[in-house]
Amino acid sequence: METLPCQGCKGLCCGPVPITEHELKKIQKKLKSMPRKIRESLEKQQRLFGTCIFYDIDKDQCGIHAARPEICRDFGYYTDLVCFRKPELAMRSRTLRKEKPIGHLSIDFTWKDF
Ligand code: SF4
Ligand code: SF4
Repeated sequence: METLPCQGCKGLCCGPVPITEHELKKIQKKLKSMPRKIRESLEKQQRLFGTCIFYDIDKDQCGIHAARPEICRDFGYYTDLVCFRKPELAMRSRTLRKEKPIGHLSIDFTWKDF
């Protein structure tokens, strides 16, 4: 599958995202299993105002990649989640999710919740 040209964007599209209860638990589990040093260095990184609390500026990638929420996985590939750098990849239609979001990452859930 063709991928997005995310290298160099430095978290440009990573802002507050809605998460479900299940996703919150998954991220909490991921953070708990992270070596303390890595977790701490991720936590204290200086990010642009509004950038997701889990964006890894140093590595220029999502800091919780395997546990990232569904909306982050879908971004760029669906007609309602278009990436301006490669809009032609946004071809699929999204179906409604069964589980309702419980809040937004970076707003309702911050580092103190993990
Ligand atoms: S999805 Fe698009 S805007 Fe977001 S990091 Fe990737 S290329 Fe950049
Ligand atoms: S969880 Fe990862 S992919 Fe999603 S907005 Fe945050 S840094 Fe970006």
